[in-house]
Amino acid sequence: MALLLQPLIGDNETWLKPLRQLLPGEDIRIWPNVGNAEDIEFAAVMRLPDGKLAEFPSLRMICSLLAGQDILLSDPGLPDVPIVRTDDQEGSESMTTTVLVHVLRHYCQLPQYAAMQARGGWERLPHRWKKDTNVGFLGLGLFGAGAARRIAHEGFNVMGWSRTTKNVEGVTSFSGPQGLMEMLRKTHILVNLLPLTPETRGMVNREVLGALPKGASLINLGRGAHLRASDLYWALDEGILSHATLDVFEVEPPPPGERAWTDPRITLTPHVARLEYDIESTVLHIAKAINAIRGGQSLQGLVDRRRGY
Ligand code: NAP
Repeated sequence: MALLLQPLIGDNETWLKPLRQLLPGEDIRIWPNVGNAEDIEFAAVMRLPDGKLAEFPSLRMICSLLAGQDILLSDPGLPDVPIVRTDDQEGSESMTTTVLVHVLRHYCQLPQYAAMQARGGWERLPHRWKKDTNVGFLGLGLFGAGAARRIAHEGFNVMGWSRTTKNVEGVTSFSGPQGLMEMLRKTHILVNLLPLTPETRGMVNREVLGALPKGASLINLGRGAHLRASDLYWALDEGILSHATLDVFEVEPPPPGERAWTDPRITLTPHVARLEYDIESTVLHIAKAINAIRGGQSLQGLVDRRRGY
């Protein structure tokens, strides 16, 4: 039996070397060199072409190599085997750094001062203390909770919204539709770290943005499809949003001529919020999951297909 691996980044050897140490004797096949499809027992992949995973009759488990599960789950022929996340704490730490940088940048109104400089302007804008600045997180999962905790530690007033209420140090937890509106009404800086699911697609819409106090700012690090560009432009034009930082966009990269490229109230980064990808840690998760399944133990980090994350 064999493990099919689709290396996400780096060369094959960077994955194979630690995998061979952790799983001695394992037959590891590198996508697309599958060999006999009946041999494939485990697949550690980002996303194979539609229906491909269904062609492996002996498949027992999929290790998902991407942080968001939407891409893997969009395979209409995805076989009914457990899917295990392989995210690492280091990835979460990188994301926390990105969130911190963007929150501080918005807090210090650096985008507004950069736009002012471009116009040849020189004017002090009114300012808020950190303790009076409310940062709201959509999503308090691996990435959201880690970042929210850090932002709270920095002295901001932090809130977070999730499906279930959470106990994250220094973070006021909200859930449900009412909880969402309650949080949004107080939020000066909104950070989106929701997964993309049928429920959350297009969720950062006019209703959500419209509930923010005037002059709020948005940092979207989740998925582009959470936010329709037309709703974003509306919120900027209405003065609801003073600035938006987007690491993700509906179509990546945004098409030429898209307003987001040139609007001084929008900062674009090319889907780089999770600064680093730790292959060694991912490989450790893959080996742990394979050993667990072979040893008849329960699997950690299972993806809930029904919820979509
Ligand atoms: P996660 O651990 O699965 O956590 C998801 C969070 O969202 C949980 O707190 C969950 O609530 C909440 N949630 C999900 N659906 C909800 C709903 N309908 N209503 C309210 N709350 C809901 O996700 P993660 O690992 O932190 O990652 C979040 C997302 O970040 C990924 O899916 C990906 O899209 C994005 N991401 C982006 C980058 C980048 O480079 N830009 C990198 C990595 C990840 P419960 O905990 O109560 O279930």
